[in-house]
Amino acid sequence: MSNSVQSLTELIEKASAKRFIEAPAPEDMGLAEPLAFPFLSIVGQQEMKLALMLALLNPHIGGVLLIGPRGTGKTTAVRSLTDLLPDVLRSRCGYGCMPEDVETGGMDAVCPDCAQLYAHGDPLTFEDRVRLHELPLNSRLEDVVGSIDERAAIHQRLRLNRGILARADQNLLYVDEINLLDDDIIDAILDAAAQGTYTVHRGPLVATYRARFILIGSMNPEEGRLRPQILDRFGLRVIVRGLESRQERLEAYRRTIAYRNNPRKVIQEYAEATELIRQELQLARERLPEIQLTKQAEATGLKLIQELGVDSLRAEITLFEAARAHAVADGRLRANPGDVRKIAPMAIRLRRSQFMQDYISSVTEEEKEISRLLQSLKRRSSDRKSPKGGSKSKGA
Ligand SMILES: [Zn+2]
Repeated sequence: MSNSVQSLTELIEKASAKRFIEAPAPEDMGLAEPLAFPFLSIVGQQEMKLALMLALLNPHIGGVLLIGPRGTGKTTAVRSLTDLLPDVLRSRCGYGCMPEDVETGGMDAVCPDCAQLYAHGDPLTFEDRVRLHELPLNSRLEDVVGSIDERAAIHQRLRLNRGILARADQNLLYVDEINLLDDDIIDAILDAAAQGTYTVHRGPLVATYRARFILIGSMNPEEGRLRPQILDRFGLRVIVRGLESRQERLEAYRRTIAYRNNPRKVIQEYAEATELIRQELQLARERLPEIQLTKQAEATGLKLIQELGVDSLRAEITLFEAARAHAVADGRLRANPGDVRKIAPMAIRLRRSQFMQDYISSVTEEEKEISRLLQSLKRRSSDRKSPKGGSKSKGA
């Protein structure tokens, strides 16, 4: 397998390192259609690129949170994933019926139309690219989970509109400035991301939707904190800083200008390498179920988490699932301690809560105080018992 799958990380590094010097004269201006800046054209930011690739490879990682100031390329990087997204099987039906529903729950598990298709041996699904959905910052809860279809309601028919979460099923959902969203919206997104489904109640209507999406959030900590319980629900966490070396900054500037002048040309520059990586990614994704952790890798991960005093079990899930993805991206069937070490900072940082540590140490203090008090009460009562016997002897 190591011969057939090239190391994804190597491919990315090689393609990104290609110097980009040309800045052709503007010609193709006034483009209306959005063309994403090529992923491979992003300078530096290895950890961010790796985290995004791993999240695409393995949905069990639990998504990525990009933390950093403005202007560090977080949104550009997420949008640039469009060209790397793999293919998935998607339902042809608005209810999202899938053949595995019939296999596990029988014909009643799908809508009548799909039951008929299935009975005739017609496909319920088609192959489609994973897509990138962006949550608009001004979204309301009903946009996110779905609402009653006003147009259908005019014709006395009650129907629900699918929300953003249902439309993001089997896709990528990008939530920029996640720390600025209302709590109820963040909770709805995180619950759906964790469960892969969600249920909406609107008046007399109830509907359950599939929502198996890969969540990518970004935030600028200068503009507001994220509740610790929300932070914990993201798999990988990347601190995105500005480029440090002058050379890299200059290169990033050149590529940005070249792209502004002629996006198609820049995209063309990277098209071949991008397609190669997309295919490798697809292949790696299909092979992921075969990848196993070695005993040593498990031991390394558990020791790390224990010594750091991380409570959340999500730390292990992300750590081990990301290590498996890192191994398959490197063309190996087994994830070893090296894979664990490579992705550990992204999986574990920001999981320890100062509040919980303070809380636990204050609880421990209190426990000690209570047991000290109990001890002294016991002593006092036994002291009282013995003088009682003594007084008797005194009276005698
Ligand atoms: Zn159906």
